[in-house]
Amino acid sequence: MPNEDAVNFNPKVVLGIAAHPDDLDFAASGSFAKWASAGADVYYLIITDGSKGTDDRSLTSKQLIKIRRDEQIAAAKTVGAKDVFFLNYPDGMLEVTMGLKRDIVRVIRTIKPDTVITMDPTVLYEPSWGFINHSDHRAAGQAAIDSVFPLARDFLVFPELLKDEGLEPHKVKNLLLINFGNANLTVDISSTIDKKLAALRQHESQISEESIKMFIERTKAFAKPEGVEYAERFLKIEVMG
Ligand SMILES: [Zn+2]
Repeated sequence: MPNEDAVNFNPKVVLGIAAHPDDLDFAASGSFAKWASAGADVYYLIITDGSKGTDDRSLTSKQLIKIRRDEQIAAAKTVGAKDVFFLNYPDGMLEVTMGLKRDIVRVIRTIKPDTVITMDPTVLYEPSWGFINHSDHRAAGQAAIDSVFPLARDFLVFPELLKDEGLEPHKVKNLLLINFGNANLTVDISSTIDKKLAALRQHESQISEESIKMFIERTKAFAKPEGVEYAERFLKIEVMG
């Protein structure tokens, strides 16, 4: 049986925050599709422009930015997301700055999510499969967490957002971190695995069928202990007032 917490977890407004076009679709698109079909409003916030993600020397950065933006919009549509926000910071060079946090807080205060999903910035490497976590992923996760708490919450932080843009402060209830090795929430995505596959296949410039297969095997492995077919996992934090 799926864990009870995941069964009862029904977010109404969900904001995924990630560094690159495709990050959220790898980690959370099955859950997004599930929650969207249950009536939730799902939004993507992509921080960088994806301008470095190719080894195709015939492509310019400008062309790549457009390709990856279009791929992300199509993938988000596939899972039923309402909108995609792009901040267009240069790919590969992301730093945790107050300017970045202000840009994220602006989106949080605009759409008022009860649940934010982002990358766990504490993941630096995983020797068992030769994995080093991209510095953009870590910067995006750190800035997103800081924006959720305390920056979006306090009206005296970035007062210009209230004064000039009319954006009220907002408290996010749940923070879901993407950390494959350390999770406490398993979402059964057996009913939306086809949408996850379709979303991943939209990222044609980034993803081979081989890497999709590898990822699907991982969702199966996550699902096994819960007695379901496919799953995504998160580290869930209920944010204190
Ligand atoms: Zn990435």
